[in-house]
Amino acid sequence: ATIYLKDYKEPDFLIKTVDLTVELGEEETIVTSRLELTRNDENATKLSLNGEHLTLQSVKMDGHMLTPDEYNATDEWLHLPVATVTTDFSLEIVTRIKPQENTALEGLYKSNGNFCTQCEAEGFRWITYFLDRPDVMAIYTTTIIGDGELYPVMLSNGNLMQQETLPDGRQSVTWHDPHPKPSYLFALVAGNLAVVEDKFTTRSGRNVKLQIFVEKGNEDKCDHAMTSLKKSMKWDEEKYGREYDLDIFMIVAVSDFNMGAMENKGLNVFNSKYVLASPETATDADFDGIESVIAHEYFHNWTGNRITCRDWFQLTLKEGLTVFRDQQFSADMNSAAVQRIDDVQRLRAAQFPEDGGPLAHPIQPQSYVEINNFYTATVYEKGAEVIRMIHTLLGEEKFRKGMDLYFERHDGQAVTTEEFVSALEDGSGVDLTQFRRWYVTPGTPEIMVDERFDPKTGQYKLTLEQSNLKAGEIFKPLHIPLQMGLLDEKGQAVTFTDGPFKGQTEGVFDFNKKRQSFTFSGLSSQPKASLFRGFSAPVKLRQTMSDDALAFLFAKDQDLFNRWDAGQRLASNIILKNIEAVDEDDTAILPAAFLDAFAEILSDTELDRAFTASALTLPGEQDIAQRMPIVDVDAIHKVRENARQQIGLTFEENWRKLYNECANAPTPANQPESSSRKLKNTALRYLIATGREEYITLAATQFRKSTNMTDSVAALSGLKDITHPVRDEMFADYYEKWQKDALIVDKWFTLQAMSMRESTIADIKKLMEHPAFTLRNPNRLRSLIGAFTSGNPVYFHDKSGEGYRILSGVISAMNKTNPQIAARFVAPLGQWRRYDEDRQALMSAELEKILKLPDLSDHVYEMANKSLHN
Ligand code: ZN
Repeated sequence: ATIYLKDYKEPDFLIKTVDLTVELGEEETIVTSRLELTRNDENATKLSLNGEHLTLQSVKMDGHMLTPDEYNATDEWLHLPVATVTTDFSLEIVTRIKPQENTALEGLYKSNGNFCTQCEAEGFRWITYFLDRPDVMAIYTTTIIGDGELYPVMLSNGNLMQQETLPDGRQSVTWHDPHPKPSYLFALVAGNLAVVEDKFTTRSGRNVKLQIFVEKGNEDKCDHAMTSLKKSMKWDEEKYGREYDLDIFMIVAVSDFNMGAMENKGLNVFNSKYVLASPETATDADFDGIESVIAHEYFHNWTGNRITCRDWFQLTLKEGLTVFRDQQFSADMNSAAVQRIDDVQRLRAAQFPEDGGPLAHPIQPQSYVEINNFYTATVYEKGAEVIRMIHTLLGEEKFRKGMDLYFERHDGQAVTTEEFVSALEDGSGVDLTQFRRWYVTPGTPEIMVDERFDPKTGQYKLTLEQSNLKAGEIFKPLHIPLQMGLLDEKGQAVTFTDGPFKGQTEGVFDFNKKRQSFTFSGLSSQPKASLFRGFSAPVKLRQTMSDDALAFLFAKDQDLFNRWDAGQRLASNIILKNIEAVDEDDTAILPAAFLDAFAEILSDTELDRAFTASALTLPGEQDIAQRMPIVDVDAIHKVRENARQQIGLTFEENWRKLYNECANAPTPANQPESSSRKLKNTALRYLIATGREEYITLAATQFRKSTNMTDSVAALSGLKDITHPVRDEMFADYYEKWQKDALIVDKWFTLQAMSMRESTIADIKKLMEHPAFTLRNPNRLRSLIGAFTSGNPVYFHDKSGEGYRILSGVISAMNKTNPQIAARFVAPLGQWRRYDEDRQALMSAELEKILKLPDLSDHVYEMANKSLHN
């Protein structure tokens, strides 16, 4: 059934306290829940509690046992008669569950022999009957009872109250969380885990014990996560004035996890991918991922936990805001420009296609069938961009004032995005009336640009027009922050001589009409406009700029993000032109303006090496695809590869020099070692692209000598597409060496899933039969199938349709065992309208097949149905 935001109603009853006793067993687990409730609507005659996959044993109301004819338990509800109860009353409900059979990884389940939970969004109802909605906030006391040998570690939210051995020999541990919280933040972990400890003293002097729990043997891979946690705690105090509020903060790494991590109060549960790292076992990108996810979950303590969502339509309230905060944190910890480039790349790769396809939705959806389907790039990443725009419009100081008021006004509450925006408005004094439209408008706005320069008057007139096809009937102009500057013919920044930013070289202009002009005077020649600096709004710029103009900005713009972006736009233009040119020998023509600009960046030693690496990397095949009305995956691949080869050959000497410098000379001060590795491996990729045998040897040597995973993976990645004995040897050695480490084996699957060899489809089928492959572990599944469907456009879209069939086979196999994950795999098929007729037919046929599956889950149904019909 579809649930609508407009139908929101306050809960009829509230729960003040929850007293849970969870008796862990190998056959079954018994959950006793004692609730203190209070009536919130005096006319309510019935209390309906959510509950799924539960076996009900007994219900007591105010101490007396109800007989089965006094209540009504269905597959999803427990209805209780309450017409006669007083305002305050109690319930005691006993249920039985089987966590060891829970393959959906929702509620209480087992991962590698350990118990753990995932309750967001609606997993608590898999543990016991409850008002499982975020506007019901209660105080929890949790007692865990189980075999102390099997499960010496027993954890829940809050502070440890008591630990004892029961007369029957079982261990009993009690936790109490003094902060009222919604059920989705409940967590329980029990297992034979190792712990790494540290401490942090908050600004006001609270001593906090920090603990990271991992499977035994992984204790030496927690340093980076622990350091990231301490940095996050400090940063939130300094940047937002937010301190931690319990005496203990725990993180548990588990190997079977549907998503990245979960911010349960005081007890974060993480996908081990976002905890475990050492230079030998994890890449620099993995290190960055850990830093940002640790920060993200920690920051949720204020933006999510202390102030939570009224209902799930408000999800971006906590997710968009917390992604924005983790991005700000990462920008402060690392190179801000490189961080921004990475953030925008992620947005364009995942969110733009979503926003342009059948699954488009505003950051605040108006309806859903299954809320788990709305943990999307739109709610998270575009949601973060929306917060960033508020930050840009208000400026740092007023933004902080608004945030302070938000925390002050709503601490302890479950609120809406409207309440958030109001608090920011009231705290800053800036009117956000029109800005609110961002919350309800789907689709990526497109911006057309018209420029006029009058040499007689020295006036430059910039006219922008916004449109949004997805918004259709509901289109109303959005309030868009236009951060921009002008460059003169030498590339110097132009100082504005009039207007709101007189005397400055950059300003944030309010672009809030459908069509709007901005004029600048006092110019001696036509300037080059650098628009949407730092990607100041999540829009698509439809500007027809000459290659020369783009090359100019690529070489000269003061804004590093826009320098990079100009280079990407230029390279895309060139590749697209070459595709249209239908050149028989597939040789791409690379204009001199492009090669010159490339050479300039290549020899600029002042730039951060990580930035140089990004600037010298061509836009990905999927980026280019977004600019084609009907995507031709093969042509994009051929032309892009040819361009890479030419760039490799043209600058061969420079690449060799760069490779050696980065490998041997010390990294410039103020830059992390990882920048050197990134640039070195960019050079390696271009050298391999030349096709010369000596660089295959170079990659193989790098692989053999490498003491860090970044260099090993880069070497493998560089050779994954060729057919050569060295390649096979390297992949075999890698597996042999790392087969006991699941996260490293995941990379082995991913690299092969993204291979461009002709045998790739057959190889993937073989890999699905590999003893190390399993559909049951989400990381492993994503490592092979996810990497294939989203990272290998050429073979996923193979004209045989075999790629589509592999995917739909996986979806149907997962539909019942883990519907959440199955549903996440539908989106690539949903892009069917973007391909030629044959592929359209093949893709939509698989969607139809999926819709006919017996026992189709709501999750998969919603995604497949929208994908086919919207
Ligand atoms: Zn989050």
